[in-house]
Amino acid sequence: MDTINFRRNRRLRNVSGIRSMVRETILKKEDLIYPIFVVEGNSVKNEIPSMPGIYHLSLDNLAIEVDEVVSLGIPSIILFGLPNSKDDVGSEAYSDDGIVQKATRFVKERHPDLVVIADTCLCQYTDHGHCGIVRDGQVVNDESLDLLTKTAISQAKAGADIIAPSNMMDGFVAAIRQGLDAAGFGDIPIMSYAVKYSSAYYGPFRQAANSSPQFGDRKTYQMDPANRIEAIREAESDVMEGADFLIVKPALSYLDIIRDVKNNFTLPVVAYNVSGEYSMVKAAALNGWINEEEVVIETLTSMKRAGADIIMTYHAKDAARWLEGK
Ligand SMILES: [Zn+2]
Repeated sequence: MDTINFRRNRRLRNVSGIRSMVRETILKKEDLIYPIFVVEGNSVKNEIPSMPGIYHLSLDNLAIEVDEVVSLGIPSIILFGLPNSKDDVGSEAYSDDGIVQKATRFVKERHPDLVVIADTCLCQYTDHGHCGIVRDGQVVNDESLDLLTKTAISQAKAGADIIAPSNMMDGFVAAIRQGLDAAGFGDIPIMSYAVKYSSAYYGPFRQAANSSPQFGDRKTYQMDPANRIEAIREAESDVMEGADFLIVKPALSYLDIIRDVKNNFTLPVVAYNVSGEYSMVKAAALNGWINEEEVVIETLTSMKRAGADIIMTYHAKDAARWLEGK
């Protein structure tokens, strides 16, 4: 046979041992952050209808949940709170007895080594459901910053290891950094929702967190899904303002953005595998249409391959189990 010149790329795929030697991306349970929804009360464990397997938990049930997270070897959780009462300035977000503050103290006492991340926003605490203060139908930027800073400080006081501001006001990282430093929390890192799109994939979360805006939408502060260069600009502002991690949210439809952020900055990149992404996989799995384990591992691996160092995901507990089984 004449020698034709072509490459034998299959040589490196022939046997499992070689495949694992040349594997470029390894998903680990240490990469995962598990989001948890906490509520006031006792013995509450209500499944969120659009997010099978995810619950609203009161502190007594939160205990069982975090014990499981720790036993699975997941290093970190992010807490979202549902307060009993809401008002127009989101008072419960920055109350020392707010639900996230109580849950943070509770978890840190039980598992001092579990990294607790506090989501810093107002939308779950305001009666209008926006992430800032509203005046004349507009979300006003600078006044919102004061309340977000107060929220971050009260979360740090409660023992949060990382502050994760998700509000997308201009200057939120600078304001929160300054506030934390002045309050003696100079060592607490900020995991900034640097690149957060105005996305329909948040639908199930809003049902879960009861945080839909009561008027208008969040398009004046969250990004247009059509924009790519703007993501660099947003991330750049947060880097300049002192962010320690950069979050890209959502993840699955934004893998190109994750790669852009990874290539342009040196901070750790966090992908938020959001509620709608989780719900789609769950719905298909419950119908027997896909192999859930394989789809979840492939999806999370693709986020790492795109450039994410860390992944926030509702699949974290299942993924940790599946990764151990391998
Ligand atoms: Zn918000």
